[in-house]
Amino acid sequence: MSEEREMETGRCFVCKREFTYDPREVITFLIDPETGVPPGFSVLGTMRPAKPEAVARSTDEPLCPDCLDMAERYTDQLNAPPPRWESWPPNGN
Ligand SMILES: [Zn+2]
Repeated sequence: MSEEREMETGRCFVCKREFTYDPREVITFLIDPETGVPPGFSVLGTMRPAKPEAVARSTDEPLCPDCLDMAERYTDQLNAPPPRWESWPPNGN
């Protein structure tokens, strides 16, 4: 008995590349089609309260492995301690 995987084809919401994915394993994001970002995010990347109507019109969009990889690296950077600036802030003798 062989397990058949039902693959789906979709368009990555970040790079717009078409890719094939396993719907049971793909990472999806809830995307507001009006802004192109998840409800609750502004286009500037700042948070704001998610409006119910924005959530209602949003759909789950798949994220391709490449962009997932980049997103994870970006998250790593966000979680990393801030860089040390040897001369900042200035001590101002
Ligand atoms: Zn992508």
